[in-house]
Amino acid sequence: MTNRNRFWRQTFTVLTFVFLMLVLWSLFNFSRSSDIKEIPISQLADEVAAKQVKEVTVDGDKITATLKDGTKQVAIKETSQGLKDYGITPEHVIINVRSGTSGAVWTTVLSIFVPFLLLGLFLFFIARQARSGNMQAMSFGKTTARMYAGKKPVSFKDVAGLKHVKQELEEIVEFLKHPAKFRALGAEIPHGVLLVGPAGVGKTLLAKAVAGEAGVPFFSISASEFVEMFVGVGASRVRDLFTKAKKSAPTVIFIDELDAVGRQRGTGLGGSHDEREQTLNQILVEMDGFDTEANVIVLAATNRPDVLDPALLRPGRFDRKVVLDLPDREERTEILRIHARNKPIDKAVEFGEIAKSTPGLSGADLRNVVNEAAILAARANRKKIEQRDLRASIDKTMLGPERTSHLLKKREREIVAYHEAGHAVVGHLLPELDDVHKVSIVSRGMALGYTLSLPQEERHLIPKSKFEQELVALLAGRAAEQLIFKDITTGAANDLERATKIAREMVTIFGMSEIGPIKLGEREEMVFLGREFGSHKIYSEKLAAQVDDQIHKMITTAWVKAQKLLTKHLTGLHAIAKKLLEVETLEDEPLRELFATLKV
Ligand code: ADP
Ligand code: ZN
Repeated sequence: MTNRNRFWRQTFTVLTFVFLMLVLWSLFNFSRSSDIKEIPISQLADEVAAKQVKEVTVDGDKITATLKDGTKQVAIKETSQGLKDYGITPEHVIINVRSGTSGAVWTTVLSIFVPFLLLGLFLFFIARQARSGNMQAMSFGKTTARMYAGKKPVSFKDVAGLKHVKQELEEIVEFLKHPAKFRALGAEIPHGVLLVGPAGVGKTLLAKAVAGEAGVPFFSISASEFVEMFVGVGASRVRDLFTKAKKSAPTVIFIDELDAVGRQRGTGLGGSHDEREQTLNQILVEMDGFDTEANVIVLAATNRPDVLDPALLRPGRFDRKVVLDLPDREERTEILRIHARNKPIDKAVEFGEIAKSTPGLSGADLRNVVNEAAILAARANRKKIEQRDLRASIDKTMLGPERTSHLLKKREREIVAYHEAGHAVVGHLLPELDDVHKVSIVSRGMALGYTLSLPQEERHLIPKSKFEQELVALLAGRAAEQLIFKDITTGAANDLERATKIAREMVTIFGMSEIGPIKLGEREEMVFLGREFGSHKIYSEKLAAQVDDQIHKMITTAWVKAQKLLTKHLTGLHAIAKKLLEVETLEDEPLRELFATLKV
């Protein structure tokens, strides 16, 4: 719909432009033709005889003459007479002949009709615009939900991993398929299921799969689309959506970003929360209003279940909740396989290895990785996607594209090389840390260089010692700068931010400081336009000061330790930095060899 509208709008603009150009052109032409003096044919004949004329152009009965001084004149001859009857012959003047009278007739006809035609089109489009504008105003309260039916259905096979989630939803599919069976036993059919999880883990995909498995239509809308500028529109859209869905029951409704309207009521500031509340109330009303006959199941997605209004979670509403986590290594392998299904993949590709180097990536990210690899392979004119394409694609997805245009000065390159070498040396030496598997001084995204570490296996429990060593590794970049150049740069800003965050979490969340095993929480206060407006410490100012002290202490300890370690392994630091300046990126064997020279 919007696409079509855009098409018409563009056509309209182009036509208006053409029309204006034509108007201008004709005006210009008229003014030009009025420069040309019309003279009797006899006068022209005289001028030719007097050799004042350079050339004449004959177009039917119209003769345009250019005098030797450059002025132009037009004369009309009698149709029955030839030019030489007036004494105008090639001996006296150059004669050009244009296409004859037929052309003249055409131009006349066109010059009469084209303006009318354009005017007609112009009016037609104006009418069209007005009408579609009208239609838009009329459909304002209608739902903008998209319905997916008849397209190739998604099935559970298209969703990798998430086994327990699929099991849970299997039941919903059964309800949708054979409602009578459950009703005969007096079972209450669930109305709503809340899918909780971070972005890109496959919430939408699962909802589609539920509809696909049950073979029912699927309505999808994002809750943020409910909320418009005008109060009442959201509620009316909700009403319309549910009416439509009920008409085509059994069916699945999917509401994305439920927290956009589902935040706790009564916490808002300003006018917008009125609209949110009304919309939310309408959703509740609709869900309560499902009679037992209506086979409509509402799936909703959110990544903030904690901020949802408790009313949403009451029985008969979203009383079921399934949690979707980021995929683990095995699931990542499976997701990669699913997205590689329809692509030519080289036999040597090992998805397991790719999955290993992508901890923390979501299903959506992994899909991007495969897609980006296909693009890289195509650009290198390969017929199949190879392991190196996938590897290059991971770097691009995780760190942003290489910035070859980002040329550093020699001195800056040296600083970056030592900075990254510092991270790498410490990262390798400290036993709790993940293996360093790549160091580079190629700028990517915001970073001038980067050091990548990968866990041997996924960890679920993180000991205090690992956090402490992470702080040392994060500060090692700056420590190397200080050690070699006796000066520090802004390049460590991101490292400092991350280090401070870790230290703060150690103190306030994990109770790993001298303050002791206590959670020093913060409470969210006030929700403004769906965004947190501020947060309140729920501990005393005295403790707050201690928290700052502890953070400070941890960071200082790590800073000293990083400098000590690098001083001890100065030779290794030089070796890695020099090699980096030479080859820019170090990984695999060459990196392992350099590490081997470091003595612990
Ligand atoms: P969400 O709704 O949780 O933000 P989506 O369902 O929109 O995430 O996921 C985006 C895309 O990522 C999906 O269309 C799919 O291609 C891919 N994806 C995510 N999770 C998975 C998974 N478990 N298996 C296969 N593909 C996945
Ligand atoms: Zn750094």
